[in-house]
Amino acid sequence: MSAADLFRTEFGADPAGRWFAPGRVNLIGEHTDYNEGFVLPFALPQRTVAAVGPAPAGEWTVCSTFEEGTVRFGDTEPGDVTGWAAYVAGVVWALRDAGFDVPGARIALDSEVPVGSGLSSSAALESSVLTALVDLGGLDLPVERRPALAQRAENVYVGAPTGILDQSASIRCLEGRALFLDCRTYEVEQIPFDLAAEGLGILVINSNAPHQHVDGEYGARRKSCEEAARILGVPALRDVPLDGLAAALEKIDDDVTRRRVRHIVTENQRVLDTVALLQDGRVRDIGPLLTASHASMRDDFEITVPPIDLAVGAALSAGAYGARMTGGGFGGCVLALIDSDRERPTTEAVEAAYADAGFTAPTCWIATAGPGAGRL
Ligand code: ADP
Ligand code: MG
Repeated sequence: MSAADLFRTEFGADPAGRWFAPGRVNLIGEHTDYNEGFVLPFALPQRTVAAVGPAPAGEWTVCSTFEEGTVRFGDTEPGDVTGWAAYVAGVVWALRDAGFDVPGARIALDSEVPVGSGLSSSAALESSVLTALVDLGGLDLPVERRPALAQRAENVYVGAPTGILDQSASIRCLEGRALFLDCRTYEVEQIPFDLAAEGLGILVINSNAPHQHVDGEYGARRKSCEEAARILGVPALRDVPLDGLAAALEKIDDDVTRRRVRHIVTENQRVLDTVALLQDGRVRDIGPLLTASHASMRDDFEITVPPIDLAVGAALSAGAYGARMTGGGFGGCVLALIDSDRERPTTEAVEAAYADAGFTAPTCWIATAGPGAGRL
């Protein structure tokens, strides 16, 4: 059922409008966002749609095609609304906490973004609701400030300690572009990313592997990075340049922490190198950077799992220019840069490797860069 149909069913009226926000794939730059570094996501064509209509002031009612029933809330604080509706209540709370007069609303949601696959259904949900409420209420909230408010909803209200990547991608991406984001200054540069014109494609491979220990491991990585920055006397690992890496590593005793630092510092440089190559029109040449990013996540940051490593290996064996896990890790998706006419054989190679290993079958598709959040 569409979001608009759900709205009519639940609320017995037509919505005032429909707003959407996409899921995202991060081309490169993993776990660099909360280290105030660089990321390079693009928006997926898969989106979350919010059909929204007015309600009395201070009243919000939400429903989703993913969940039974409706959830109704008023003026809340973090912890008051739990479960999936906390993402929506969190957005209302973050806007109000920032001083905005948020209009009451009835909200019906539907989504094509796979949940819990590292393609950021949570940010798509927050961003669609935020964009709708901003438009509906005529709130004066420039687009560059919106991701941080959606992130606050997830960090403070939902309680997930994620960085600014997901919400920035869902809100600020443009069609046919990858978003080069500086996670310290929130400055962006829109990088041309029309792979089809080059005879290339990004094959997304959803491992369909269940996430394990995601929240705890994510928090542990974050803590290691913050501890390393403290030892090194810098505000964030962003401040360690690649040519300062060797000296920085000498100051850290713990081998695990050293490897965490090495991932972040080299990953930031890989984002910069990828951007430079894309700007030069040398798209195929980013392949080795993608694969190096994967090795760094596997060996130094230790956030991959066997089905993910297997998908990367199978895609490379089938001739991909490069492949890496995308998203926070411990499951989720892999992306591979391939010639467009290699979609079938690459997909079949990954499927065969999964069948041999006895893993749940993967889901594969070519992802093109779509637009960020807006009104339908
Ligand atoms: P992801 O990698 O997809 O962002 P998260 O664990 O961060 O995974 O977020 C997934 C959660 O977001 C779901 O468990 C659910 O609570 C919420 N969610 C996402 N999309 C929807 C939706 N369309 N309707 C209701 N809840 C949703
Ligand atoms: Mg998420």
